[in-house]
Amino acid sequence: MAKRTRLFLALLVWPALVQAQPLPHVRVLATGGTIAGVGSANSSAYRAGQVKVDDLVASVPGVGQIATLSTEQIANIGSTDMDEGVWRKLHERTLAALGEPGVAGVVITHGTDTIEETAFLFSLILPPQKPVVLVGSMRPSTAVSADGPANLMDAIRVAGAGTAAGRGVMLVMNDQIFDPRSVTKVDVRQVNGFAAPARGPIGHVQQPQPRFFHPAAGRAPQLALLPRKLPRVTILYAYAGMTGDDVNAVASGADGLIIAGAGAGGVSSSARKAITALARRGLPVVRTPRQGIGDIWPAEAPAPASANARNDDDDDRATIIAGRELNPAKARILLMLALQQPRTSAELQALFNDLGTSETR
Ligand code: ASP
Repeated sequence: MAKRTRLFLALLVWPALVQAQPLPHVRVLATGGTIAGVGSANSSAYRAGQVKVDDLVASVPGVGQIATLSTEQIANIGSTDMDEGVWRKLHERTLAALGEPGVAGVVITHGTDTIEETAFLFSLILPPQKPVVLVGSMRPSTAVSADGPANLMDAIRVAGAGTAAGRGVMLVMNDQIFDPRSVTKVDVRQVNGFAAPARGPIGHVQQPQPRFFHPAAGRAPQLALLPRKLPRVTILYAYAGMTGDDVNAVASGADGLIIAGAGAGGVSSSARKAITALARRGLPVVRTPRQGIGDIWPAEAPAPASANARNDDDDDRATIIAGRELNPAKARILLMLALQQPRTSAELQALFNDLGTSETR
């Protein structure tokens, strides 16, 4: 065949080849939240968790050109009602979707109030090969300028992107892609209500492809959700004048305690005595900052010169686990998972060192 004829044929066939590229198959699992919320266009009042998943997807113009979608309604709740029962069902359905060879990734729609907890939980227990993207919105679906459709489009784009493979669980809001460990809700109303204050986003969603700032780490999960009720872990929020009785009330009946402490996880002297007593009796206690930002380091061993002058601070150091970069709610998730099996304080600290920072990601 003459060269010119071959070139002519190739040009003829090329558009067909490009068109034949199959779209990625993305499974959308819906749990409710403001993204599925309904109100009136001229008021800030609305009810979360009203719109069904197929209508949510249908509200995204042109989404059929970027992915083939299949959907499942897991729940339709405000995310302050997210609990272990919904987590377990969502986890099971996410695993099932990830196990389907044709599914490239999963999107989970979720209320923004606790989305960071679900994202962090799933990041600890799901395999990283296929992307799982959590997404919500700050405005209900009926708002004049609803952010849900754009966020959902972005999330689907990320879940279907080849460059997202190996990144596991991510959170997408307002054109940004976040690591579940470092992202947090920083505003109750603004569309830029999510940030990772200490670390920043891990990428941006830009058309046609998301752009990631670092290579995928692809770490295998180190924890699992075992088939029995999760341990009960409560959170103690520190404030001026907190007493030992306050501590004991919050810790009563708990299998573990998270201190949302002042500054670098501090509490009053009275509270500290009560906490030290609980820790000495074997209650796992983790120190985090109530402002949710900052690295709480594990204590160093007391210097030899001060070994004879031990005080309460030294006792704290010996028994209380440092939550590293986790905010109180996420430290609670990690401690619940960790306490599904017996672990020493040193083992718990090692887990927080490893999973409570973003250094190795
Ligand atoms: N209250 C809502 C929820 O978390 C807030 C939201 O989705 O933005 O379900």
